Amino acid sequence: MKDFRSQVEAMREELIAQRRDFHQHPELAFEEIRTAGIVAEQLQQLGLEVQSGVGKTGVVGVLDGEHDGPTVLVRCDMDALPVTEENETDYVSQTPGKMHACGHDGHTTIALAVARLLNDKRADMHGRVKFVFQPAEETGLGARAMIADGVLDQPKPDYCVGLHLWNEMPVGQVAVPSGPSMAGAGMFELHIQGRGGHAAMPHQTADPVVALAQTINAMQSIVSRNVEPTETAVISITQLAGSHAPNIIPDSVSCAGTIRTFTPAIQQLVTERMHAVAQATAQSMGCTADLQFGVSAPPVNNNAEIAARLTDGYRRIVPDITIHNDFRTMAAEDVSLFLEAIPGVYMMVGSANHERGLDYPHHHPRFDIDEEALIIGASMLASAVSEFVLPD
Ligand SMILES: [Zn+2]
Ligand SMILES: [Zn+2]
Repeated sequence: MKDFRSQVEAMREELIAQRRDFHQHPELAFEEIRTAGIVAEQLQQLGLEVQSGVGKTGVVGVLDGEHDGPTVLVRCDMDALPVTEENETDYVSQTPGKMHACGHDGHTTIALAVARLLNDKRADMHGRVKFVFQPAEETGLGARAMIADGVLDQPKPDYCVGLHLWNEMPVGQVAVPSGPSMAGAGMFELHIQGRGGHAAMPHQTADPVVALAQTINAMQSIVSRNVEPTETAVISITQLAGSHAPNIIPDSVSCAGTIRTFTPAIQQLVTERMHAVAQATAQSMGCTADLQFGVSAPPVNNNAEIAARLTDGYRRIVPDITIHNDFRTMAAEDVSLFLEAIPGVYMMVGSANHERGLDYPHHHPRFDIDEEALIIGASMLASAVSEFVLPD
């Protein structure tokens, strides 16, 4: 494993400026036109073979070493969130209603830096690196779109690495997880059909509002009563819709939400129980339930052997960084679709700084990172790639 810290240190000001530029110009899922344009231009300037429009707004750049060897996929996401930023920095989002509140501005910056660092080593490189700049991570659709457009073919990658800046962890700490680290996610919509009427004459109706309320409560028992206590699951019902007058019992109401699990067996148990609870509860109140599951992503599953290999390397070259191998979060990430197809590791790079107030959670209007995490992230990601393509 190669140490890139001094090279990254020399790029410090550029990295911060680039991240702040992306931060000021956030773009939502599948609208990453400006971001993708900058990415493609910078990769082209390095001399990489660049393909734009992969999975709508994704960009792929291939860096070919001068010697034969494996192909490493570096995965990075580019999209922002529909959030209005409340920070008062001089690099605040210039677009009301859009914000890089998850750190993908930093990911794009880091991956571009890694392309530069490794491009300088092209002559010594045994293999190639496929840089994948993905759109639409936040909607769970981007990885799928890029895979459908053939990002995993020609050349088929042998390894996959990537990282997420992580405000749940202080800067100076990273996670190189082994096994499942981020939950599988499934989005659902539940529609309760009843029979509406006058609010003063409920006996003439089948009230879907009461049926939905009972269903939401009953679903809380699935995690606490059906899932084995040593396992993990989340059911969150987050959206309600349907009724619009205080004196009318509506015909129907609906809700939506997400489930999070770490294994296919628990995912199946949770979805089956949700169907059963929804049907039985609605029926008991004279209504019917229609529960539909939409976009889903499997858990992020990290290859244990690769995690151990990278951890050993990091302990040698960055002994001052605290490394966790047992990291887990119920947050989901569609990098899981890449890791399902290719062995690899998705690292979490601590980016919080409590003293400086840079510790708001991801997706919060005051989310911001300690930019030291850009330096740590770029050097660690470049080192991870070097482990596969640069001889010691
Ligand atoms: Zn996010
Ligand atoms: Zn994210």
